[in-house]
Amino acid sequence: MDCLFCRIVAGQIPAKKIHEDELCIGFFDINPQAPTHALFVPKRHIATVNDLTTEDRELAGHLLIAAAKVARTQGIADAGYRLVMNCNADAGQTVFHLHLHLVGGRKLGWPPG
Ligand code: 5GP
Ligand code: ZN
Repeated sequence: MDCLFCRIVAGQIPAKKIHEDELCIGFFDINPQAPTHALFVPKRHIATVNDLTTEDRELAGHLLIAAAKVARTQGIADAGYRLVMNCNADAGQTVFHLHLHLVGGRKLGWPPG
C-alpha cells in the first residue's frame, strides 16, 4: 500500500514534526490554512473516520489530547482553535489516512465552506 502519511510515519518522507508518542505523530501541514496548521496521524493505518471501531476508542481520544497539548505549546489554546477530521469526498478528504487537523492562530469563520 502506498500511503503518504504511512510514509511520513515511517520517516520515508520528511515532515516538520511537533509531536510523537507511541500511538501518533503530529506535524505541520505542508499547505497551512492558518498561522498554526498541524496534522495528528495515528501510526497505524486507518483510512477514514468511518473505519474506526470501538477498539480504536483510546486512539481516537489520544489524538484529541495530543492536539490540545500542542495547541497549548503553540500558544493558541486560550485564544482558541479548531480540530477537524474530514471524511470522504463531501468533506474534501484528500489523504486517506486518518488525520486530525489543528487549525488556529487567527479568527476562524463558521460555518465552514
Ligand atoms: P484532508 O483534505 O485529507 O483533510 O487533508 C490533507 C492535508 O494534508 C492537507 O491539508 C494537505 O495540505 C496536507 N498534506 C498533503 N500532503 C502533505 C505532505 O506531504 N506533507 C504535509 N506535511 N502535509 C501534507
Ligand atoms: Zn497510511
